[in-house]
Amino acid sequence: MNIAEMTGGELGVYQATKAPYVIHKGKKALKVAEPYYSKKERMITAFCPHCGLELNRVWNMEYCGSCGGPVSWHDISVRDYGDIP
Ligand SMILES: [Zn+2]
Repeated sequence: MNIAEMTGGELGVYQATKAPYVIHKGKKALKVAEPYYSKKERMITAFCPHCGLELNRVWNMEYCGSCGGPVSWHDISVRDYGDIP
């Protein structure tokens, strides 16, 4: 069940686009890869689109902690969670 189903469509109706990157503060940032939601940790995790390191949506909001590449958590579809505008 995703957030749209849990809230009767009130949340999560946004449909993420297939664009591979977003422009944020005038800079191009690649979207994180294969984002998923962990119910146990209540955290969204994904992989760095540059180096493949695992990232989370708490500590790695704008940059990868390993390679320093700019990443974006916007306009993504998160498995078991829903879409994030
Ligand atoms: Zn990286």
